[in-house]
Amino acid sequence: MGLLDRAGARLTAKPEDAEILVVNTCSFIDTAKQESVDTILEMARLKTAGSAKKLIVAGCLVERYRDEIKKNIPEVDAVVGTGELESILEAAGIAPMAVAAPSPFNILSGNGHAKIRSGRESGAGTHKTLPEAASFRAEGDHGEKQGRFSREEWQGAGHLLPTYLYNEDTPRFLSTGRTSAYIKIAEGCDHPCSFCIIPNLRGKFRSRRFESVVAEAQRLVAGGVQEITLIGQDTTCYGEDLGFKDGLATLLDALAGIEELRWLRFLYAYPNRITGRLLETIAKHDKICKYLDVPLQHASPEVLKRMKRGAGAEIFLKTLEKVRSAVPGIALRTSFIVGFPGESANDFEILEQFIGEAKFDWLGVFNYSDEEGSGAFSLDEKLQKRTIEARKRRLMKLQQSISKRAKQQWVGREVTLLAEGESEETPMLWEGRTQFHAPEIDGKVYINDFGSLETLRAGSFYRAAITEAHEYDVVARIVSDSL
Ligand code: SF4
Repeated sequence: MGLLDRAGARLTAKPEDAEILVVNTCSFIDTAKQESVDTILEMARLKTAGSAKKLIVAGCLVERYRDEIKKNIPEVDAVVGTGELESILEAAGIAPMAVAAPSPFNILSGNGHAKIRSGRESGAGTHKTLPEAASFRAEGDHGEKQGRFSREEWQGAGHLLPTYLYNEDTPRFLSTGRTSAYIKIAEGCDHPCSFCIIPNLRGKFRSRRFESVVAEAQRLVAGGVQEITLIGQDTTCYGEDLGFKDGLATLLDALAGIEELRWLRFLYAYPNRITGRLLETIAKHDKICKYLDVPLQHASPEVLKRMKRGAGAEIFLKTLEKVRSAVPGIALRTSFIVGFPGESANDFEILEQFIGEAKFDWLGVFNYSDEEGSGAFSLDEKLQKRTIEARKRRLMKLQQSISKRAKQQWVGREVTLLAEGESEETPMLWEGRTQFHAPEIDGKVYINDFGSLETLRAGSFYRAAITEAHEYDVVARIVSDSL
């Protein structure tokens, strides 16, 4: 979006207004593929109806089904994989303009995929970006030799594994509003998890340069961003390929020094990479949200072994204890996969019991998705869909009761709240988040009382008292502006 914006395209979130439609896709599990295909077909219909001239498909679905997309959906004019982001300009038929210095990012109002309006705006310039040179870890090279990144069975995906990394000068176009922004600190993954094809889609693990991430954060904050969420397929490996030990902790230390930044968090920790230094860093800085997202995937040692992740409930409980004692009050999010091949009733019981003991603040459950190209694809003992669905429902019900009890403890607490705007459910309520809620994924704080304030500003911080608790969401009353 940043490249297109800088080249003079006007971006809109409304597809019916666009002359060029871009669908950015995901393809790591069935439901994501389905959503991507449904959106492409919806946009193809719009193009056929005559309101758009061009349809571009970008992202992970292209890495996997490049030829099939082009063959089966003739309305698609061009595809752009995850490693060839800069070819979006060529795909859109917009030549880059030779220019100049980095400029502040732009903001997209509204949600959804970027839809591009035609034409150039006079005076808009581009900045020539050079992707950062990728360096790889020994684990990645070893994994490659073992066939970890092989895409041979994927027709049409025979081209090179992506190595792209953006840098601090790559133009950005925020779709997350003015206050909050994600920064991708690393790309790809070297882990061998047998259910996962993300490494095949995204390539070997590689970190962005330390200075590049800091410079980007500084620029975002100078433009008004107050909350930064660091992402990557595995953030806790950050810097290993650059020779850093505890690279993420060092990066967090540096970013916490940015004066106007208010909240800083990272997502997707790998369980055995949560070091003492990382926890100390979270505890030490007020700006670092007391929040940890650590996808555990399962708790049965047998299943985890077949998943090629290792550990088990006992080890995880110790890790959680270490986290909670180093950072008191920290909110913990995790996700699990149910129905992995061979998951027995006993394995499921171990997982259920673990969830009961671990008491996560936020929990997601995914049904196992059998993906061609993953190690688990060839395993026997696949479970029936209805068994998988029933297990998922059972875990969600269990978590619902755990969450309800935990949220009741919130009532009476005073918190700092980021007001996000009117609720999608009713204009009578506003919605917000605390440091214990990551953007978009966790429960909500509904604001039903503005206290002495006439109105709230979306993207501003307030002090608020929690007055009611529901299963996942809470209700709050504004106490005052937060300085
Ligand atoms: S660590 Fe995450 S992205 Fe990497 S292989 Fe495992 S599940 Fe996939």
